[in-house]
Amino acid sequence: MERTGTILRGREFEPIEGRVVVDEDGRVEAVEAESVDSTDIIVPAFVNAHTHIGDSIAKEAGGGLSLEELVAPPDGLKHRLLRNADREELVAAMERSLRFMQQSGTAACLDFREGDVSGVRMLADAAAGLEVDALSFARGSVDAMHEGDGFGASGANDDEFGRERTATREADKPFGIHAGEVDASDIDPALDLEPDFLVHVVHPEPAHLERIDDEAVPVVVCPRSNLVTGVGLSPYAELAERTTLALGTDNVMLNSPSMFREMEFLAKLSELPADEILRMATVHGADIADLEYGVIEPGREARLLVLDGDSDNLAGARDPVRAVVRRAGVDDIREVVFGRTST
Ligand SMILES: [Zn+2]
Repeated sequence: MERTGTILRGREFEPIEGRVVVDEDGRVEAVEAESVDSTDIIVPAFVNAHTHIGDSIAKEAGGGLSLEELVAPPDGLKHRLLRNADREELVAAMERSLRFMQQSGTAACLDFREGDVSGVRMLADAAAGLEVDALSFARGSVDAMHEGDGFGASGANDDEFGRERTATREADKPFGIHAGEVDASDIDPALDLEPDFLVHVVHPEPAHLERIDDEAVPVVVCPRSNLVTGVGLSPYAELAERTTLALGTDNVMLNSPSMFREMEFLAKLSELPADEILRMATVHGADIADLEYGVIEPGREARLLVLDGDSDNLAGARDPVRAVVRRAGVDDIREVVFGRTST
């Protein structure tokens, strides 16, 4: 199959007018430059690098509560609501969030999954009928990590995580951990675990930035979540200078898991250029989870987002990368391609 339009090719999103050819195995076979009639814009489908979709039953609960009152275990509002819901209800709500992610152009999410082995199985059940890849960064036992795709630690002030880190390394799976969300106290102990990535890093001190740089630890930032919980904003430009940054929408309780919204907020809150933000929303998340998509290049799996460049919203935009990052939305989507299938 093939799709035509303006293709944002490679990690630099070089705009090429022409066609993307997808082979029998659902991989990009070629990106060919030629004059075409289509006004579509073809970008890599998104990788949402940090979610908690388990709280999809609690959307817009807890307005005005602090971060601790909202999500701290065991008695934060989120955990009380989750305890009172049955499994079927929780899985159904997670499935709807995943379906929305798929419809809004997301190929994969890196989900920090609570609830041990049974929590990992709930996410797998929720994703079973969908194309989107829901990766479980499990919490709790080492068995949960084996059942899922990696380990997602709450934070280094909660526990030591040495055993979990070792087991994750032995299983050759990624280990991620929240760090520096409320203050700087858990950043060094998180880095001591040699994680594959950190999440948040709102409050790094100069020495932390230096360590992140020296030790080449990627960071996933979640700007809208940080705005809702009032913890501040990460020093995006300083982090981007030093390491690989990826983008996540965090708790469904707090935010719609739309990468368009996350990109637009970040673009307008920060000095980061649009192409860097689009890399954060695509290939950088794919790099962290070792996924074979996230960039349009021959040999990569074809997970593509086809936007109508002539929609009432996007018509006449002078710069396709800026238009995708700062202006486009779910209504501009013509199609999401998942290998050989599409929605
Ligand atoms: Zn989180």
